[in-house]
Amino acid sequence: MLTDSQILDSMRGIIDPDFGKDIVSLGFIKNVQITGGDVSFTVELTTPACPVKDQFKADCEKAVSAIPGVSSVVVEMSAMKPKKKPGMGINTLQRVDTVLAVSSCKGGVGKSTIAAQLACAIQREGLRVGLLDTDIYGPSVPTLFNIRQPQIMMRDNMLIPLEVDGLKLMSIGFVMGDAPAVMRGPMVSGYVQQILQQTDWGDLDYLLIDMPPGTGDIQLTLVQQAAFDGAIIVTTPHSLSLVDVARGILMFEKVNVPVLGIVENMAYFICDNCEKKHYLFGQSAQTLKDRFGLDTLAQFPIIEGISNLSDTTLGADLAPLKELTNNLHRAVGKRRIQQEALPIVTPQPGHIRVQWPDGSEDQLLNRDVRAACQCAACIEEYTGQQILDPETIAPDIQATSIDTLGNYAVSIVWNDGHSSGIFSWERLKEIAAGVTA
Ligand code: ADP
Repeated sequence: MLTDSQILDSMRGIIDPDFGKDIVSLGFIKNVQITGGDVSFTVELTTPACPVKDQFKADCEKAVSAIPGVSSVVVEMSAMKPKKKPGMGINTLQRVDTVLAVSSCKGGVGKSTIAAQLACAIQREGLRVGLLDTDIYGPSVPTLFNIRQPQIMMRDNMLIPLEVDGLKLMSIGFVMGDAPAVMRGPMVSGYVQQILQQTDWGDLDYLLIDMPPGTGDIQLTLVQQAAFDGAIIVTTPHSLSLVDVARGILMFEKVNVPVLGIVENMAYFICDNCEKKHYLFGQSAQTLKDRFGLDTLAQFPIIEGISNLSDTTLGADLAPLKELTNNLHRAVGKRRIQQEALPIVTPQPGHIRVQWPDGSEDQLLNRDVRAACQCAACIEEYTGQQILDPETIAPDIQATSIDTLGNYAVSIVWNDGHSSGIFSWERLKEIAAGVTA
C-alpha cells in the first residue's frame, strides 16, 4: 500500500533554486491524498507567479508517477498567503498580498516609468495589480497612461481606482488636479494620506507604490504607514546617484522594510546598426553589490518610447522587464519564507499585552507604558527631561487603540486623548524589563 512518506520521499530530489533546499523540506507539499493508486497533492509555492512553477509541477508529476503502484497523479499548484497581522498598516491595504515601494533617491531616473512598466508586466502574467502614484512633485501616471481629466468616482467615501486593461490606477495627480507642486509640507502630506488611506483597491496580489523621490519626511511617513513588504530602488548607474542610493537604503532599513534590489535604468544604449551595449556611465552592477550587498534586479537600456503606456502591451517583448519580474517574484517569495513574524500588541483592561514571535508574552501596565512615552509632548527634545508628570496620569488610563507602524513599532491612542507616542519593539522590551525613563 502506498504511504505519504513514499510520496514525499520521491520528491526530495526537487530543489528550489532560490533556497537551495528540496521542496519537501521547505514544506511546499501539502494535502497528500492516496486512494488506491491515485495520488493527489498540492504544491504551495511562495508566490503565485513563481518563475519555476511549471517546472516544479512537471518534476513532481514525474517523480511520483515513477513510484511502483501509482496509477494517476494530480498536482494542484497554489501560493502562500503572506501573514498580515490584524491592525497592521492601513485597512485599505489589508486585502493586498504584497505592497511594494518603487523608490528613487533623485528625480528623473525613470522611477515612474519602471514602476508603470513593471505593474503592466505583472498584470499581464494574470495577477491582480494596482499602481499608486504618490509622487507629489510630478505625478506621472496621468502622463504615462495618457489619462486626461479622469472622472474619479467615490463610493462610501472611498476613491475608486481607474482601470486600464485590468490594471488599477490611482494617482495623486487625479486628486490634486492642477494644484501647484509648490505646497507646504503639511498640505502635501494631507493629499498623500488621503490617497493612501481612502483608495478602495479591493483584492490585489500586488500594489506598487510609486514614491516621491528622495528620503524626506513625506517619504518616511509613507514608509511607516504603508507596511511595505519590500522596496525597489531605481537609479541610473551614475556615481552621484549611487551616493543617494545609500540614503534610500538607510531610510527603508530604519523601519525594517527590506530593499529587494536595485533597478539600473538608462544603463546603456544599443545604437541602430550594432548590437553592442554602450555603457554610458560605466558598469555599476558589481559596485552596487559590493557597496550595499544588493542584487541588481535588472538593467534597462535607453529605449525610445519606453514611457508611453497608452498601449499597455508595448513592453511585452522587453527582455529586461521579463528579467525584472522574474527576479522580483523570486525576491518576494524568498522574503515571504524568511519573513520574521512580528509581535502582536493588543489593549487589555489595565494592561497592554505583547505576544512576541517566540511565543513569550509580556503584560505591561497601562500606567507604565503611558509614563514611558517619549514623544515631543512628553519629553523635552533637547534636554531629554520628562515634561509629563507621571503623577498626573489618571488611575484609569487605558489604551483605546493600538496600530502597528511599518514593521517596527506601534502607536497607541489613550483615553486621555494622547496619541502621539510611538513605541518600538525595543522600547516595549525595555518597559517590560522595568526601564521606563
Ligand atoms: P522619475 O519618476 O524618476 O522622475 P520618469 O519615469 O518620469 O522618472 O522618467 C524621466 C524621463 O526619462 C522621462 O522623460 C522618461 O521618458 C525618460 N526615461 C525613463 N527611462 C527611460 C529609458 N529606459 N529610456 C529612455 N528614456 C527613459
